[in-house]
Amino acid sequence: MSDYPRNAAPAIDPAKLDKLAEVAIKVGLQLAPGQDLVMTSSVAALPLARRITEHAYKAGAGLVTCLVNDDEMTLARFRHGAEAGFDRAAGWLYDGMAKAFGEGAARLAVRSDNPMLLANEDPAKVSRANKANSIAYQPALEKITGFDINWTIVAYPDAAWAKLVFPNDEEDVAVAKLANAIFSASRVDVADPVANWQAHNAALRSRTQWLNGKNFHSLHYTGPGTDLTIGLADGHEWKGGASNAKNGITCNPNIPTEEVFTTPHARRVEGRVRSTKPLSYQGTLIDDIEVRFEAGRIVEAKASRGETVLQKVLDTDEGARRLGEVALVPHSSPISKSGLLFYNTLFDENAASHIALGQCYSDCFVNGASLSAEEIAARGGNKSLIHIDWMIGSGEIDIDGLDAQGNRTPVMRNGEWA
Ligand code: ZN
Ligand code: ZN
Repeated sequence: MSDYPRNAAPAIDPAKLDKLAEVAIKVGLQLAPGQDLVMTSSVAALPLARRITEHAYKAGAGLVTCLVNDDEMTLARFRHGAEAGFDRAAGWLYDGMAKAFGEGAARLAVRSDNPMLLANEDPAKVSRANKANSIAYQPALEKITGFDINWTIVAYPDAAWAKLVFPNDEEDVAVAKLANAIFSASRVDVADPVANWQAHNAALRSRTQWLNGKNFHSLHYTGPGTDLTIGLADGHEWKGGASNAKNGITCNPNIPTEEVFTTPHARRVEGRVRSTKPLSYQGTLIDDIEVRFEAGRIVEAKASRGETVLQKVLDTDEGARRLGEVALVPHSSPISKSGLLFYNTLFDENAASHIALGQCYSDCFVNGASLSAEEIAARGGNKSLIHIDWMIGSGEIDIDGLDAQGNRTPVMRNGEWA
């Protein structure tokens, strides 16, 4: 027994943490010699951020700048901040980030969020703060989602997050378990992680090549509570694994990743769909989502839990009721097989096929880099301040691809590639 404050760091295998940092730089970013890097991290995740910085400089980084946030400071705002301050955001900071990306800097986010951090704070303040932040972040986010630059996201097992995923374990045991789950999903617990990622990217590429060759007009999903037709955007392109950024660098924007994804047509989605896993959205768990689409727009929405938050999300703007992403993940993906709910989209979206409300990736079009915002909208690309993924895949879902004449090709049966 001891009264010393617990320090989670010793529970995390330092060799694997170093591998994760190496994968972040060499696979996630493929950071170019001389390239600057803008990184964000929580205070808790600094052990990983420090190793990433080391690998970045070893790879020839120009300048690494790390912006650090802290849960206690975030809570202080909600508990003691003046009412009028909740529509504010650090626009000057995001403008600076957008400027850095415009000048060629890469972007790396270390995610270690406690999904329940704001669970007990005033939802109206949380929603105002999020909206102000989304608006201020938009110019920087557009450069990221449009792949102007190479970018990536990796995860670190913060103690509060670990206790949520493994509630019955002591904190240091929970941290060790979450660390191992992150290392395994991120493919760094193998002898040669970089080679393993190359093979994984090649396997995902063969899926996207097949789907792009078929050039389906729409996908039809059937399963319990689901009978949904998702039109695909005109000139859509399936992506997965590595992405070619406009700066000529091939990056892996998500570590881990198991999905292949493209842009749905924002005005051609019809029918009903039921979520298959809870969605953890900024401190609220939204469960058993059921929505109905008409002409691409959600006209009915309910949830067994978190429905108020869901309705607020849908009212963010016009595009929040329409789809911006459709992604296919086999039910047998390693993250799905782990059986864990991570309460974090970076992991949970790789456990099941999913759709996202809101902003589309302009990159998911043939010659997407050369299209204007108007051309993307005309092809069916959606625009919104939000992009929220939620899971609709399971071992009970069948998916058919339909061509413009309605001819069917099996794509998935019982959640597996057909
Ligand atoms: Zn996705
Ligand atoms: Zn997404």
